[in-house]
Amino acid sequence: MPYKNPEDRRANYQRRIREDPDYPEQRRKWQAAYRARGGKRREYERLKADPTRFAADREQKKGYRDRLRDKVLKAYGHRCVCCGEKERDFLALDHIDRSGSEQREDMSQIGFHHWLLKEKRSNIRILCHNCNMATRFGSPCPHQT
Ligand SMILES: [Zn+2]
Ligand SMILES: [Zn+2]
Repeated sequence: MPYKNPEDRRANYQRRIREDPDYPEQRRKWQAAYRARGGKRREYERLKADPTRFAADREQKKGYRDRLRDKVLKAYGHRCVCCGEKERDFLALDHIDRSGSEQREDMSQIGFHHWLLKEKRSNIRILCHNCNMATRFGSPCPHQT
């Protein structure tokens, strides 16, 4: 899908309906045909059968995910709030109130990152993996004791 976030997709869908009232019906037909051809899995298998395209697709998706993650890290300070670590590969997003599992269940990683960008969450902070692990069970980080 060419749309990078759910809102754009919804807005586009509304616009298509305004322009063409039959659009939902056509879309349903198109989707049924797509499923009949084997749907997403089939498409994925075809992609996988072509190593060049497969690698390019992987790179493109990875690049997009990395850029999105960078934006989120930047928006939340891009450093560990405990020890000040700034290396992006060491940083992780941490849920202060541990509500992450419920939030994440109905959201893809990409959706989750878009949501984090859109609403600055006060219950999200950046920790490096060390500090994250050390505080996992509610104990204070050794840096702070
Ligand atoms: Zn740290
Ligand atoms: Zn620490």
